[in-house]
Amino acid sequence: MARKVLVLGEVRDGSLRNVSFEAVAAAKTVAEGGEVVGVLIGGSVNPLGAELVKYGADRVVTVESEKLAQYTPDGYSQALMAVIGEENPEGLILGHTALGKDLAPKIASRLSSGLISDATAVEVAGGNLVFTRPIYSGKAFEKKVVTDGLIFATIRPNNIAPLEKDESRSGDVSSLSVDIKDIRTIIKDVVRKATEGVDLSEAKVVVAGGRGVKSEDGFEPLKELANVLGGAVGASRGACDAEYCDYSLQIGQTGKVVTPDLYIACGISGAIQHLAGMSNSKVIVAINKDPEANIFKVADYGIVGDLFEVVPMLTEEFKKL
Ligand code: FAD
Repeated sequence: MARKVLVLGEVRDGSLRNVSFEAVAAAKTVAEGGEVVGVLIGGSVNPLGAELVKYGADRVVTVESEKLAQYTPDGYSQALMAVIGEENPEGLILGHTALGKDLAPKIASRLSSGLISDATAVEVAGGNLVFTRPIYSGKAFEKKVVTDGLIFATIRPNNIAPLEKDESRSGDVSSLSVDIKDIRTIIKDVVRKATEGVDLSEAKVVVAGGRGVKSEDGFEPLKELANVLGGAVGASRGACDAEYCDYSLQIGQTGKVVTPDLYIACGISGAIQHLAGMSNSKVIVAINKDPEANIFKVADYGIVGDLFEVVPMLTEEFKKL
């Protein structure tokens, strides 16, 4: 059954985040041969429309305004609701990012719609559109089918492969003028944490440190390994609580959820709250000097040893590749 599906692209520092392309791929499945319409909201997003088309959107609608230069739930929900009003879609897909987690429930409540949040897969099976999502902190998966109304979902970054970029694809990029008013939140300034390199939520490789890293300086060998692998550095809450690193690096139930291709846990015991944020990583390597550490139960490869010896050795070996 062909459907019209809207996809919200996410823009950061003037570029589309990878999750935007993954959302387009999910929308293609939901559309079942129908139309996929990208939506871009921001201060100046028109030039990015063509990029979304190259990744599979059939056309793109943009809403530009000075008032939308920074994300605010009021501003973005007005813009997205206006596009939904114009397009009347049968499906709506957002990334399960900080923005998506904030905006999607607001939109769902405005539309009196259900919402499948944090989907890790979508497929057509037995004539139904079936979403898969983790439950019980990633210990089990449930399958969800929408039987009535709007098919509205957020998708977890790094789980649904984007379509291959096709430079020859072209599609209309049109602007919708929306009078954005009554924004209750005014962003005066954005103060960024000095995180270097790759975005943790979207990284293909994560090198994470726990209390076993022992100090702020103890993270240096992990940063080197992450650099060599083109990955990002993450942490357990134990490491954050001990002030070895910033809370923006925390992975777990009360931190970020990551699903990289490779997760290297260094000096992390593997508490259930930490596993909730990383156990769905494709390959898990654990380095811990305690052979009984819980992290080894979820690890594909375990190295029993001192991380300050093992991590530099791994870095040297990877440098040779
Ligand atoms: P520890 O448990 O102290 O483990 C350190 C490990 O390092 C040990 O296994 C030790 O053998 C090993 N080690 C020590 N030295 C070395 C060395 N030189 N080489 C190799 N290995 C070494 N935690 C999270 O991570 N994320 C969350 O989101 C989160 N949310 C929580 C929410 C709630 C409501 C609660 C109650 C807790 C939460 N926690 C969370 C905390 C969690 O329960 C653990 O306390 C925390 O994950 C432990 O961090 P850790 O593994 O770094 O430290």
